[in-house]
Amino acid sequence: MTGALAMFGGGRVIERGSVPAEQVRWPVVTEAEHEAARRVFDSGVFTSNTTGGGEVASLEREWAEFVGAPHCAAVSNGTAAIELALAAAGVEPGAEILVPALTFIASAVAAVQRMLVPVFVDVDPVTYTMSPTEAERLVTPRTRAILAVHLHGLPADMTALRALADRHGLLLVEDAAQSHGATYRGRRTGTLGDVATFSLNVVKNLPTCGEGGLITTADAELHRKVVLHRQFGEDLTRRERDYVSRVLAGNAKLSAVQAAFARSQLARLAEYDEARQRNVGALLARLADLPGLVPPVVPEDRTHAWHILRFRFDPVAMGCADVDPGALRTVLQRALRAEGVPVQQYQQVPLPWQEAFRTGAGFGGYPWALRGEAPAEPRVEDFPVSTAVVEDSLTLQRWHLNPDSGPVLLRCAEAFHKVWDNLDTLVPIARAVEHRPPWTRYANTRTEA
Ligand SMILES: *Cc1c(COP(=O)(O)O)cnc(C)c1O
Repeated sequence: MTGALAMFGGGRVIERGSVPAEQVRWPVVTEAEHEAARRVFDSGVFTSNTTGGGEVASLEREWAEFVGAPHCAAVSNGTAAIELALAAAGVEPGAEILVPALTFIASAVAAVQRMLVPVFVDVDPVTYTMSPTEAERLVTPRTRAILAVHLHGLPADMTALRALADRHGLLLVEDAAQSHGATYRGRRTGTLGDVATFSLNVVKNLPTCGEGGLITTADAELHRKVVLHRQFGEDLTRRERDYVSRVLAGNAKLSAVQAAFARSQLARLAEYDEARQRNVGALLARLADLPGLVPPVVPEDRTHAWHILRFRFDPVAMGCADVDPGALRTVLQRALRAEGVPVQQYQQVPLPWQEAFRTGAGFGGYPWALRGEAPAEPRVEDFPVSTAVVEDSLTLQRWHLNPDSGPVLLRCAEAFHKVWDNLDTLVPIARAVEHRPPWTRYANTRTEA
């Protein structure tokens, strides 16, 4: 592909308005979803305040069967799912939970909502999931749990994390919000920890028409407690609701419309996943020969659900070792977006640098205040991989979730090639860009909670 870059006034590889909506929209809504919603309206059963029957219980059975877990409870969203899993497991306030530094904010705020202190762990440079060796280093006498996040859809290193959890008697929770259907050593995510949580948010690989979540476990007693915590601590196995709250718990029920919509999506999940493997595989094959473009890596013992595609850019392999990786990423982002590729940075900082975690604002300084402490000021040297990844990479989200996105993804590949053909004009710009990573702004500027 030749021609001037679109950022300098040349033609775009992906012209505005040229992407057919039916190839990139997400979720894909068919007649089956309309029928599912109508089924609920006609049934007159709109929520899940009973066990056994209805759309919610059917979704729970079908998801348990899909992942191969003995028990499943549907809840209001993926964040609540993590909270309920921790509540049901009885992790006490003030305890520490190991959480990866690179994940969506929900993973850690769910722990904070249960008054657990998140201890952030750097990620592995190949998989971007929690580094088991770093995790081991951060275990203290107060550590009670590990939250393993299958980031972007790739399962974390569960054998090593299981061994670590067993050595120290820790609860192992999977945050599988991004990894529906992905497998690790032949087993689906949702069966790899003591308990696992999924999101049904409309942007996830198994979407509902709004918000929802799922919790799977092999532990019958833990499942029973999750269900208690889902509805005011009430025992719903009784024939008649008795309004007796047995534990302090709120309301995290899933509605029947959300369950019915998710069930109809679940019926097509395997087919969509196959299409995604094909489409993403073709995209990555087209990008394989671009020097310095580091594609996602899938270790042989696992499969990737391809929720998010992350590409790192390596200045050394691009022949410009002197260019700041953050500056290079900024310039590549501008060039790619101008060509019509919707790349985005996703998080601008690893979790420890999020304003909320640095200050504890919004929760009166708790849970840290339980021990008379403030959140620890993060140091770059403790998170060399998470900080580097956030600086030198961009993500593609959404388009590739659509099973018919294959042709659009190949046009994205074409745009990458065009940009790489023009690196000799882009690199000097990156070299001239004044770039400072965002966390350098925060040094010694703690604000009061
Ligand atoms: C989306 C997401 C969640 C939270 O799910 P919600 O349903 O949006 O509350 C938790 N963890 C990760 C990694 C996520 O991507």
